[in-house]
Amino acid sequence: MNTVKTLLSLYLLLAVILAQFFSAYFFSKGRASYRKAFSALVMCISVYLFGYLMIINSSNLQEMIFWNGIQYLGLPFISVLWLTVALLYTRTIYSLKIRMALLLYAVPVLTFFIRLTNPWHHLFYTAWGMREYYGNVSLYMERGPWYYINITYTILCLLLTVIVYFIGCLKNKAGYTKSHFLIFFFASLLPLIGITMILLFFDEWSIDYSALIMPVSLLIISYGILKHDFLEIRTLAREAIFENNLAGMVVLGPGNRIVDYNKAAEQFFAAMNIVLSNNPIERVLKQQPKLLEIFQSDSGRDFSMIIDGEERYFEIDVVPLGDFQDRSQRMLKSIRDVTEEKKMQEKLKFLATTDSLSGLYNRAEFMSLAKREFAWAQTNNEDLALLIMDLDNFKVINDTFGHAAGDEAIREIGNIIKTSFRKTDIAGRIGGEEFAVVLKNASLEEAKLVAEKFRETVATRKVFYGKQEISLTVSIGVAAMHDDVNDIEDILKKADDALYRAKAMGRNRVAT
Ligand code: GH3
Ligand code: MG
Ligand code: MG
Repeated sequence: MNTVKTLLSLYLLLAVILAQFFSAYFFSKGRASYRKAFSALVMCISVYLFGYLMIINSSNLQEMIFWNGIQYLGLPFISVLWLTVALLYTRTIYSLKIRMALLLYAVPVLTFFIRLTNPWHHLFYTAWGMREYYGNVSLYMERGPWYYINITYTILCLLLTVIVYFIGCLKNKAGYTKSHFLIFFFASLLPLIGITMILLFFDEWSIDYSALIMPVSLLIISYGILKHDFLEIRTLAREAIFENNLAGMVVLGPGNRIVDYNKAAEQFFAAMNIVLSNNPIERVLKQQPKLLEIFQSDSGRDFSMIIDGEERYFEIDVVPLGDFQDRSQRMLKSIRDVTEEKKMQEKLKFLATTDSLSGLYNRAEFMSLAKREFAWAQTNNEDLALLIMDLDNFKVINDTFGHAAGDEAIREIGNIIKTSFRKTDIAGRIGGEEFAVVLKNASLEEAKLVAEKFRETVATRKVFYGKQEISLTVSIGVAAMHDDVNDIEDILKKADDALYRAKAMGRNRVAT
């Protein structure tokens, strides 16, 4: 008989160690809520099995009663956790709400305390004693009223669990989920059988059948979860990609409920002080109406916000999940930070449209903007004037001071132009030392005055190259929109003619 005891002890010891391992494993891996519940379940089972292991190795009644008490630190919660795992795993519920938790866990919590305080009221066990069994002593208890309430509730939970998996089996069309739930269905049947056996035979044999069966169903369920959830390499890879993707991802299920999300999504929402949960998106984003609208829509959108004092841009895209009928029911929302891309685009655009020496628009960009302005002024019957300026005797400057000095002069003229005209005017460097400015809403007379002022500014400005002072002057040709101009080229031509005349008249002057 001692070999049986030794084998049983070894079996239980192994089960306890395994259970501890699984509990830690499921707790640490993945964010899905059923994993946490399963981890708690396995932990409770290991406490229960450990208690049983100690009971069968106890030599006196006092020890046995003590270890029975230890068993009840975990035992009351086993069946209800079993049910919780089933509800979460089959997605019958998405998270355990406070009200539901109170309802489900009321009896187990009461059992926990009633068993703990049994010596005061004997509601759980009315009496206990030792029994001889094949030469071994074993614990024997007289059951009190709460024992029956507890066992009824336990059976009820396990029955419900079995039903939940069964319905999950029926509802799922996908073959692999179906067989998956079938495994869970049978695994949950086992403890039910164990309890029935306790109720029927315990008094005769003093063996805790559920303690013997529990490790088996535990192994089956762990195997099921591991095989289908973790070890399947595709799922593993997908999960890793999902979790570690630089893009934030939020999976929305029926009722716009958040079903899953990854680290990046968590960070994105944390920047707005929003904590993601398994709630409908309407509730999670109630403080952010703009973002909520984006998340409710089924098309991609842009979004920007200030993070640490810097404006950041995001592209929020939608990928429908599942078949066509319930497209809007399941979606993956991806959130991509496009700030660097946007900055790079802006930089490229800047490089493509700006003249690096003067900082003004380059010829191509100036022409396209001027054309647009011309068309606008024409359709709206508004004034438009154009100045073309050319530095006087620039060759001489280059020859006397060097090419670098000439460049410096061009840079300086760029600065003067930038500060001398209105923000709405368009200025560009259209040739080597030739510049043009489009003046919106300006008549020829007004433009002439502006040009005159600018000419004077340039003439009086001291430009230095090192210690050398370079004196600069410009000649300016002015033209405005008239009845006989049809396009921007016409005005350019007129202004150019005027410039030629200004040069001919002796330079450093304005001509129209
Ligand atoms: P004018 O008064 O008739 O305009 O005489 P000018 O010497 O300025 O004659 P023009 O406008 O024909 O001369 C252009 C000169 O400007 C030729 C070229 O050497 C110089 N130039 C053109 N682009 C640059 C540039 O990017 N840097 C420098 N340093 N010189 C340039
Ligand atoms: Mg010149
Ligand atoms: Mg020139």
